[in-house]
Amino acid sequence: MPDASHPSSGPASRRLDVAIVGGGLAGLYAIHRLRRMGLTVRAYEAGSGIGGTWFWNRYPGARCDVESLEYSYSFSEELQQDWQWPERYGTQPEILKYINHVADRFDLRRDVQLDTRIVSALFDVEANDWTLRTDSGETIHAHYCVMAAGNLSTPRVPDFKGLKSFKGKWYHSGLWPHEGVDFTGLRVGVIGTGSSGIQMIPIIARQAKHLTVFQRTANFSLPARNAPMDRERERRHKAEYAARRAAAADTPFAIGGHAKPTRSALDVAETERNRSYEAKWQEGGSISYLYAYTDLLVNKQSNDTASEFVRNKIRATVEDQRTAELLAPKDHPIGTKRLCLDTDYYETYNRDNVALVDARTDPIAEITVTGLRSRGGRTFELDAIVFATGFDAMTGALREIDVRTTAGAVLREHWAGGPLTYLGLMVSGFPNMFIVTGPGSPGVKTQMIASIEQHVDWIANCIDHLRRSKLDRIEATPQAELDWVKHVNDVADSTLYPLANSWYMGANIPGKPRVFMPYVGGYDRYKRHSEAIAAKGYEGFVLGRRTAAPVADAAE
Ligand code: NAP
Repeated sequence: MPDASHPSSGPASRRLDVAIVGGGLAGLYAIHRLRRMGLTVRAYEAGSGIGGTWFWNRYPGARCDVESLEYSYSFSEELQQDWQWPERYGTQPEILKYINHVADRFDLRRDVQLDTRIVSALFDVEANDWTLRTDSGETIHAHYCVMAAGNLSTPRVPDFKGLKSFKGKWYHSGLWPHEGVDFTGLRVGVIGTGSSGIQMIPIIARQAKHLTVFQRTANFSLPARNAPMDRERERRHKAEYAARRAAAADTPFAIGGHAKPTRSALDVAETERNRSYEAKWQEGGSISYLYAYTDLLVNKQSNDTASEFVRNKIRATVEDQRTAELLAPKDHPIGTKRLCLDTDYYETYNRDNVALVDARTDPIAEITVTGLRSRGGRTFELDAIVFATGFDAMTGALREIDVRTTAGAVLREHWAGGPLTYLGLMVSGFPNMFIVTGPGSPGVKTQMIASIEQHVDWIANCIDHLRRSKLDRIEATPQAELDWVKHVNDVADSTLYPLANSWYMGANIPGKPRVFMPYVGGYDRYKRHSEAIAAKGYEGFVLGRRTAAPVADAAE
């Protein structure tokens, strides 16, 4: 379809085959993949640069917790051979540099529109077309819409009383100033001890005059054991990259290089078990640890052994035992919240200029002009406050867009009781709208780029199938959607995940429905299942033509 931009008069209008919301890792791969099919595509990105999560999260110490050789695109053998990662785990600047390299190498930039937020998306059921509107009034007409807006892209600053009156500076991990922040000589408060807080705390502690960490819930963290890339290891990895990617695709986390466990933690004696945990602790990384035994995420008793090992490490590292006990998580089994990776996190609490405050027993009451006051009446004088308080995860970005159809479906209403999707890819009542790594997808529980590539390939193959079948409409059936949501929850209920108050179930947002959102049955199982559904003529979807009545059994 020709590009019909009219930039000369009034707000522009554009016609596309596929409109993509988001210019991060998912949006960029979608441009590449769909453009190769001859489709006109364009991605709309709210940021002033590409990269999504890696564009916004520039806080000190921001680094991926999946090894670089795994956390990278696999779609181009030349790319994965050429790119050299300097360290075992990529820092935010390194990953952003990589994403920019990919955009240039595959000429993706010309189809990304920066500084553009999509505010609404309306599907006209008669015209069979999406109309997206941007924050500057531009309209985009597209046959298909791909939501690649990210899962952790709606930063959340808690609604603390008095924040406006604070005369120091405050920051959120996911909205970090591009010029960086120098905390030298300042009294800093960090609120939040999830992955972001745990990464930034050691670095801020080294800069600040004094750092107070406000912890509501202790999280488990393992040493990353980051190091410069071992070039011999890299050479060996690259020599068999394709085979390694294939092997990774056959694992639950889409991460290769770890022998699959064969025994229950309860089948081995305590000494042997602790030896095994110690080896994993020394190796570094979260997958290795969770792969120690088959049942760490499904059997509480087994998990207790792995949790207690880490609690003992915390007790052995942190000198002040009261602080150590506060840092040792006891309210959730290890791995049921995102397992953090750190460099010197627990050691940081041995510094004279760092204090840990228990914001569970004495919650933050308000921000004051000069700092913060707890409900118990304690006051903290602060020059800067950092909110490492997370995101409105998985649904936040889509709920910010007014998504509806001319038939009266409204996404926010459809999801009022929690997100409903079929395969995490489509929502019933919203034809021709695909989601990448949304709720119901395994995305956030996997090496994210593998899930992104798998979903985008699935979507591209689906659009190709429609084209070749002379069809132009696809929609998930309400029954398939209900069955999938039930399956996602049944799988979660067969694990220990629901025992944690995590963002996986919306527990970090007051008032958000508690529904387990990610599919935790594993990337491998999901990939096989979603591909089998496509092979069966898109079972659970209604396929149709613009003018004709829907045809459920359209064959190739
Ligand atoms: P998060 O895991 O949601 O952690 C937010 C923290 O803020 C929690 O400790 C939370 O306590 C606390 N908090 C929220 N509201 C609070 C309040 N009113 N008072 C006191 N504490 C409050 O967010 P995140 O650390 O940004 O991480 C989000 C996700 O992003 C991660 O799970 C991970 O998937 C991803 N991430 C990955 C990396 C990496 O690759 N290394 C790095 C950063 C982030 P509660 O637990 O009590 O709610």
